Amino acid sequence: MKILFWGVRGSFPVAEGHAVGYGGNTPCLEVEVAGRTILIDAGTGIRGAGQALADRGVEQVDLLLSHAHWDHIQGFPYLPQLDQEGVSVRVHSLRHPNQTLNEIFAGQQQPPFSSRSLKDVRAHLEFVEHEDGDCFEIGAAQVTCRRLNHPGVAAGYRVDSGDHVLAYICDTDLDGAVLHADGLGEDANETKWLQKLRQNARDLGHSADLLVCDTFFLPEEYEPLWGHSCPDEFLRLAAEVDASGVWLFHHRPGRADSDMDGIVERYRPAAVSEGIQLHAAREGVEISL
Ligand SMILES: [Zn+2]
Ligand SMILES: [Zn+2]
Repeated sequence: MKILFWGVRGSFPVAEGHAVGYGGNTPCLEVEVAGRTILIDAGTGIRGAGQALADRGVEQVDLLLSHAHWDHIQGFPYLPQLDQEGVSVRVHSLRHPNQTLNEIFAGQQQPPFSSRSLKDVRAHLEFVEHEDGDCFEIGAAQVTCRRLNHPGVAAGYRVDSGDHVLAYICDTDLDGAVLHADGLGEDANETKWLQKLRQNARDLGHSADLLVCDTFFLPEEYEPLWGHSCPDEFLRLAAEVDASGVWLFHHRPGRADSDMDGIVERYRPAAVSEGIQLHAAREGVEISL
């Protein structure tokens, strides 16, 4: 399995000079596994990812969408594959209660927001809607989709191939006391749902080689209503589920490269004491498992 970071920034893209080391594009990962190409999330990083795939002549792409917040779909209209006849693009997401996935993607490309309608796509475009807990195959890789605690309808993914596991757990408030996920029961059930969604994250991360996590906050910045986590929670989770590598991800837009270096140094002793390898995701970094 090969994993390449194309976009690592949360909320909105940044182009300031002090952040170019880690990169300013919003979330996108490329995963090459068992001869198949998977993209995770369609932030602005997907433009570069798609161009690299086009250069290599890749004709089949599966996109795993965490959720439809704009920083995770805003790059989609600029995916080069959409203009390529004979190319297949399959988008996977959790099912939304009141809108189809097709309607959500068509919505961001309708006038007056865009002149590139989804109807003009030349590739074969397919939307696949999943339920919480679904497992499916992409080639020889097993993919698991689980709901997370984040405003709207958000999912994390686990990609299993042979002995190797990638867990993508972004965006989520892992240990917060507020239930963010839409449409999950009444107040009386809130504690139960929080436990269930946290268990979902544990299941996704179990024995993962790589845990790519939402570490938008530091503890002193934490906002309980935003639906994001701190490195502390993910280091605890990684220790609980025996994950070997934690990759800080979905970096706050205002973080300079020096801030990111400082965060890694701040958390390294805690990671080392648990035997966890700690990194901050950076555009262009490729990992081979
Ligand atoms: Zn986000
Ligand atoms: Zn979000």
